[in-house]
Amino acid sequence: MPEPVVYLNGEFVPRSAACLDIEDRGALFADGVYEVTRYYAGRPLAIDRHLKRLRLSLAAIQLDGGVLVEQLADAGNELVRRNGTPEAAVYWQVTRGPAPRMHVFPAQPRPTVLAIAYAVAPVDPHRPVPALKAILHEDQRWANCCIKSLMLLPNVLAKNKAVAAGAHEAIFHRGDVITEGTSTNTFVVRGDTMHTHPANQWILGGITRQIVLELAQQEGIPVIEEAVTVAQLRSADEVIITGSTTQVAAVTAVDGQAIGAGQPGPVAKRLHAAFLGLISQC
Ligand code: PLP
Repeated sequence: MPEPVVYLNGEFVPRSAACLDIEDRGALFADGVYEVTRYYAGRPLAIDRHLKRLRLSLAAIQLDGGVLVEQLADAGNELVRRNGTPEAAVYWQVTRGPAPRMHVFPAQPRPTVLAIAYAVAPVDPHRPVPALKAILHEDQRWANCCIKSLMLLPNVLAKNKAVAAGAHEAIFHRGDVITEGTSTNTFVVRGDTMHTHPANQWILGGITRQIVLELAQQEGIPVIEEAVTVAQLRSADEVIITGSTTQVAAVTAVDGQAIGAGQPGPVAKRLHAAFLGLISQC
């Protein structure tokens, strides 16, 4: 297999030739932000929304990604082409770059901008709704979860607990309030209405979450952007998670207990079908 090509600071280089400075602030302080955009058949889904969120994340950490950020969309397309990976999750990362290890920002930062295209399996347009298991986990993150920060250790630890428990995702709760998953947003169906945490400082405003809210409106599914409690999630009719690489999936068991009938429910089926319809046109 040929060596993958990655993008680093304006250049396309073989993976083994891409070197980061050991004092890069991304490595020393997680001082940076990222995005993941899913490419379907060589085309990115909702790239403008991903670029917009990247700019918002950069502004929130007072980092000027400069012109290189503007080139990321083209870089993603070029990576997918050069690597021959039309089905890909393209990862973009911007850090405050190399500088001696001091908390204060360097006077003249030189941001590090990189992109990697990870090949993923194509989505079968006829597949059933994925049925996944989850655990609940205390949300131990900071109070700026709306920034897509590199600082993912709480997410990483919780995800690993989920996998160790034979589950796919950990759904966070802050006290009694359900927030979101480690890399997904959470929707809870009770009766005919879907509930999801409002897009504020306590969750990442997912691009797939936005798309699913629009699809729900088109489908006539009532949605309330209000958080639910742990007990409300456990006794829900359906739990649905969304994300750029997860797409739309049903959570059929939480902490080993069935959600609703223990199978993907009608709302998950409708939204999953609508999402597959959308990506077939993207
Ligand atoms: N919530 C968190 C914490 C995430 O890390 C992610 C994606 O990585 C999401 C939600 C889903 O966001 P998106 O739909 O933009 O992929």
